Parts: sequence; C-alpha cells; structure tokens
Amino acid sequence: MSSSEQTTPSACLESDGDGIGGNEQEAEPDHWTERGRAASGSNSNATGRPRRSVLALGHITPMKVLARVLVLSLTFAAGIIAGGSACYLYFQLAVEADRSEVAEGRANEARAVCGFHQTALYQRAGLYHQKFGCWPTNVQELAVMHFLPEYSQVHLCSLQIPASGLITSYDQKGTFIEQTQHCTVGYYVLSPYRFRFDGTNFTVSCTLDVSHNQ
Ligand SMILES: [Zn+2]
Repeated sequence: MSSSEQTTPSACLESDGDGIGGNEQEAEPDHWTERGRAASGSNSNATGRPRRSVLALGHITPMKVLARVLVLSLTFAAGIIAGGSACYLYFQLAVEADRSEVAEGRANEARAVCGFHQTALYQRAGLYHQKFGCWPTNVQELAVMHFLPEYSQVHLCSLQIPASGLITSYDQKGTFIEQTQHCTVGYYVLSPYRFRFDGTNFTVSCTLDVSHNQ
C-alpha cells in the first residue's frame, strides 16, 4: 500500500515520457499492480491528458482556427453586402417594371372592359336587327325598345369608373349615374357608345377613347 501511495501520478507521466500515460504494463512489469491501481484510482489520466492537449491547442491550432474564422466571416459579410446591394438594385428595377406594368395593365383592363360593353351592345343590336330588319341608330333606341335596361354598367365606358368606384368628373358634367350596392351603372341617355352602319358593316365605338375601339 505504501509503495502505491509513493508513486504519484506526475511521476508516472514523467518517467514514461511517451505522452500516453504511466500505466503501461510492458514498461515496468514489476509495479504493474500498484501502478495500475494508482492509475485507475487517481485522476492522473484525467488531469494529465487534457492538460497536454489544451496546451497544444492553445499554442498552435486555436490561432489558426481564429484566423480562418475571421477571414471566413469577413468574406461572408462582404458577400452579404454585395449580395444585398445587388438584391436592392434588382428590387428597384422590379418595382419600376411593376409600376409600368400596373399602369399598362390598367389601360389594358379598361380597354378590355370597354370591349366587353361594345360586344354586349353589338349583340343587342343584332337582336334588334333580327326583330326589325334594320340596325339601331344609337344606344337610346335599344333602351327605348327594351333591348337594354335604362340603367346599366354597359352604358358606361370603364374610363368613367375610377378605381375607387366613386363617380366624380362624370357626375359633375350633369350625367346621371347611379352607384348601386354592387356596381356603378350609367343612364342610357348619356352612353358614350355610338352605332354606325355604312351599308354593309355595323360597328359600335367608344367616344371616350379611340384606343378602346376594336
Ligand atoms: Zn371606352
């Protein structure tokens, strides 16, 4: 018992000098029992090995790791800034393109809605033609003969319906327009649409915007 107590953990480590530990059986077979017990009983391995590895890391590896981390993080940050500005430029361009697209889209939509109205009027005029054998001269005639209601969306060009859905300028001109619960309707007397028959072709046109005419 006394011999095992005298063999301190530090002495075991220094006597070996191989960095593995002091409890190798082949190194000193005579003290196998004592040293084996001392090694297992004490915390020589627990304190010795980690200390050596910590020292190795502290002198060489952590500095390299730190340098690499710094370089990588700087590169990464630069990449983010460059990428961010590129994204911002792209975003600006996208917004501008979107604006012009929105304006163009609204114009197209207005033309399309006006086109629907012209088609509807043409269809009613066709019914009028089937019944009377002649074409109506104007929208008023269709409404009077009950081919169209007095108040209808079809009596409005889409240009007369602002995005807000409220009638402003058209109302100020003395036009009678009714805002119903569901949609804006116009009075037939003030329809912006005109009929024309040149002897062979019957056409419907919008007087508010030439570009609306098909
Ligand atoms: Zn129109």
